[in-house]
Amino acid sequence: MQSLRLGDDPVEEPETEDPFTARLMTFEQGGSEFKPVVVSRTVLQMMSRTEVYVVKWPKPLKFQFFRSLLPDISIIQCSSCNRLFHTDDFELQYLQKGYCPFCRNKHED
Ligand SMILES: [Zn+2]
Repeated sequence: MQSLRLGDDPVEEPETEDPFTARLMTFEQGGSEFKPVVVSRTVLQMMSRTEVYVVKWPKPLKFQFFRSLLPDISIIQCSSCNRLFHTDDFELQYLQKGYCPFCRNKHED
C-alpha cells in the first residue's frame, strides 16, 4: 500500500526511525566500525536537552554533540578538560583522589 499526495511540495519526511536506535542495533549485531550519526539541525532541536551533551571546544575546533542512549545513567562533564564521565565513576574518583581522573584539575566548588 502506498500513499500518494498530490499538490504537496516535496517536504523532507520526518524520520520515522530513530537513527541512534537503528545504529545501535547494527552495532550490537557486530556491525561495521563506528560512524557518528549525522542529523539535521531540526532533528537536533527536537531531541531532549537532558540527553544531548555538547562538548564546546575552543575555536578552531568544532563543537561535539553526544547523545546519551541510557537516560537512567547520569553523565557529568568536567569543566576543565570537557571529558564526559559516568557521574558515579567520576564522583568516586574525585572523592578518592581529589581531582578529575583525566586532567587532574581540582574543581573549586
Ligand atoms: Zn577533567
